[in-house]
Amino acid sequence: MRFSNSKIKWVSLCFCLLLSLRIIQGYKESETARTLKLEQGNAAHEVHCSRERSRAAQKIIEEYLMPFVEKERYQMSSRCRLHSDNDLYRDQEQHKIRVDVNEWKCGYCRKRFYEEKYLDQHFDNRHYDLLNVSHSRCLADVCGALHCDLVMDSTPRKTKCNPAAASRNQHLCESLADSCFPVNEGPSASRLHEFFLRQFCDAHTCKGGQKPFSRGHRKTRNVFYLIVSILTMMLLLLFYIFIYMHQRGMKGGTVQLKRISKSVQKKKPS
Ligand SMILES: [Zn+2]
Repeated sequence: MRFSNSKIKWVSLCFCLLLSLRIIQGYKESETARTLKLEQGNAAHEVHCSRERSRAAQKIIEEYLMPFVEKERYQMSSRCRLHSDNDLYRDQEQHKIRVDVNEWKCGYCRKRFYEEKYLDQHFDNRHYDLLNVSHSRCLADVCGALHCDLVMDSTPRKTKCNPAAASRNQHLCESLADSCFPVNEGPSASRLHEFFLRQFCDAHTCKGGQKPFSRGHRKTRNVFYLIVSILTMMLLLLFYIFIYMHQRGMKGGTVQLKRISKSVQKKKPS
């Protein structure tokens, strides 16, 4: 196989670009690590509420509960533990700005970070005073009822069902249904109470057969995925058509070349 000069130039240019990107990335990482070390020196506080699990609970509420609450035009009371006021991290989470795939910005002080986890650590260390501690509620505490493990990738799934834990989660789940959607508050609350039991509580059993989120979730994401998949399929199709046309052109060229060489051979002996 022979490489032309321009091809070699292109490959070396790409290599140089990749190398310089890697160097910049390494610099950014070391800078972030240094910042964190400095900040950790100042940190002398501790919050006993998991940010990751709170985020998972918030995600479940947003996707699997709120679309139905909005449909019923129901206003959840702040007494309900699922109300956004009871999320310790809500304000901080709302101050996360995703600039790029590998760039996160703090909405309070505009500092930039390479990964979300560094921004989380920055929030913990620098903006501790902005945590919504007034209600002293931790959204992660309702994770058992909301099946947070299902949306958290890092959590290893337990294969064996624990009947005591299942019953505890079911109890918590039912108490959430009672406090967030009291049946004596009218038909909307009643319908949502019933919905909540089916959507979240029925699956807390070791008997199997019941799956959480059986009533579905927010549809907008599906539409987005559908558009992306259609675009990908179209691009793939165009790519294959291009390859096919290209190969056909090459074959046509070789056939013509063969014909020419044959005719030359035939002419030669004379
Ligand atoms: Zn900040």
